[in-house]
Formats: sequence, C-alpha cells, structure tokens
Amino acid sequence: MKSPVLFIVIPCYNEQEALPITAKRLVELTDDMIAKALIDPASRIVLVDDGSKDETWRVISELHAGDGRFEGVKLAHNAGHMNALWAGMTLSAERCDCVITIDADLQDDVNAMYGFLEEYGKGADVVYGVRSSRKTDTAFKRTTAQGFYKLMKKLGVEMVYNSADYRLLSRRALEALLSFGEVNMFLRGMVPLLGFRTAEVYYERGERVAGESKYPLKKMIAFAMEGITSLSNKPIRYVLLLGALCALLGVGMAVYVIVSLVHHHTVAGWASMMMSIWLLGGLQLMALGMIGEYVGKIYMETKRRPKFILEEHLK
Ligand code: UDP
Ligand code: MG
Repeated sequence: MKSPVLFIVIPCYNEQEALPITAKRLVELTDDMIAKALIDPASRIVLVDDGSKDETWRVISELHAGDGRFEGVKLAHNAGHMNALWAGMTLSAERCDCVITIDADLQDDVNAMYGFLEEYGKGADVVYGVRSSRKTDTAFKRTTAQGFYKLMKKLGVEMVYNSADYRLLSRRALEALLSFGEVNMFLRGMVPLLGFRTAEVYYERGERVAGESKYPLKKMIAFAMEGITSLSNKPIRYVLLLGALCALLGVGMAVYVIVSLVHHHTVAGWASMMMSIWLLGGLQLMALGMIGEYVGKIYMETKRRPKFILEEHLK
C-alpha cells in the first residue's frame, strides 16, 4: 500500500515561544516517518496563525521559507481555536489522505502519531488521542474538565472521555466533517457524530513546551457553554424541572400567605398577588432566558458568516 499523505494541522495563537521548539520536533518526527515509509514525502505541516498579536506569523513565514514542508495560513483576525482548526482542515482536505490536528504547545505526545497511523493503516477513519492521565494539569483544570465531560454525557452528547482535539481523520471523515454547516462549532462533540470506524490511542499529556495557556478561565467557561448549547437540547427540558421546583416554592409561599391572611388582616388582594408574582415571575424569567439562548443561536446560524477569513496561504 502506498504510504499516505499526512497533513498535520496546528492552530497557533501567540505561540512565538513554542513554535520553534514544536517545529523542530515535528521535522524530526516527519523525517523519521518518511524514512520508515509511514507517510508520503508530500506530507505537510500546516501552521494556522489565528490572528496572533506577537511574532507568530514571522516565525511561520521563516519556517515556510526554510522548509517546504511547512505551510502557513494566516487568519485575518482571532477566529478562535475551533475556527483556526477548521481553516487548516479546509485548506488541507483536497491534498491529503489523512489529517492530524494537534496543539502548538505539544502537550500532547507527538509519538502517539505513530499509533494514529497504525490504526489508520488498519482501516480506522477516526483515531482519537486519549489522555491516559492528566498529572500535569492543575487540580482545578483537571476537576473542571472531567466534570464537564461527565455533564456532557448526562446531556446526551457523545464524547470520547479525556480526548481533546488531538486526533486523526481520514480524508473521507474530514470531508464529512467539513460538510457540517453549523457556525457554532464544538469539534470534539461533532466528530463522534460522523460515525465511520474509530480507534483510540492512549498517551501521557505533558507540560506546555513554552509560553502560557491561551485558555484563561473566561474562555474555558465560554467553550463549555458553546459545547452544551450547540450540541444539546436538554437544558430546555430542565426548565420544566426548575419550573416544578418554583411551583413547590410557590406552595410554601402560599402557606405563608394564607397564615398571614388568617392572622393579620392583610389588604384584600395581597395574597393572590403575592402568589402570582412568586410563581409566575420566576418561571417566566427562566423560560425566557433559556429560549433566548436558543433564539440567539438561530440568529447566529442564519447569518451564515464565514468561519474564517483567509488573508494569506503560503503553499
Ligand atoms: N488557540 C488558537 N486560538 C485561540 C486560542 C488558542 O488557535 O484563540 C490555539 C493555541 O495556540 C494552542 C491550542 O489552541 O495551539 C490550545 O490552546 P492552549 O494550549 O493554550 O490550551 P490549553 O492546553 O491550556 O487548554
Ligand atoms: Mg495546551
């Protein structure tokens, strides 16, 4: 069998410190893979600059000038991790047999790619990189992340536990993924929807090679919200539950109102007013908020905005 053309897609946001180290590691890795005839020499490393504010693009341009293996994609603005991945995958789809996405900081062990290719060779269309431990993550990140995976499962979203955006997709899986029209993207929840034959490869997650996390708490929360509201309709059902809870509170309130009515000659109409305010006010506010979430999503989807705006593509 002919060795596959592999495209490695890497989103880079302010990664000037990490990139030189990452690039060196990937050159060694792909050299070795080519020598072992695991991949075709036409394989590429696609570096997507997600509107970085530092020297990332200069580093990418230099890498591209020095070694034709590196491709550079520069997005015109910071489109976000998911959109940067999407951009890289879109621009690779027509020229590759399979694509691997990995973060620029190499927290995910590059050697797992050997396992990815092996599974691909055996016929898998989707290979997930799964963290066998999260020792190097802070306790906070670990607990929140694992809590999130559990919550998503409860909400009926199929996700591979402890897998992130380190995965291999065959060309046909990639094309299927790219045919998804949604603007609100949560890739790790979308890939399992593809079907196809899947496999998992386990690895130890390490520290960032350089630089700092580009996911501060605020972005993490936004990311989690995105995952939930773009993939699950269950929250809207929980409104019912909350409604029941409110009604229960309302009953308690009713008792209190009636007791007051009996004991202290309240103004006529006070009791019924109090009860309606408590019961209906709470219910309506919550229902409105939830419906608003979804209306907001429909609004965004109807805009059909491009997922990224391409400024340059070195190839
Ligand atoms: N990233 C991106 N755009 C953003 C934020 C992050 O392309 O707006 C990239 C970043 O350069 C890295 C990957 O997404 O390659 C994951 O980010 P990071 O390693 O900081 O996240 P963490 O591992 O801390 O969750
Ligand atoms: Mg990281």
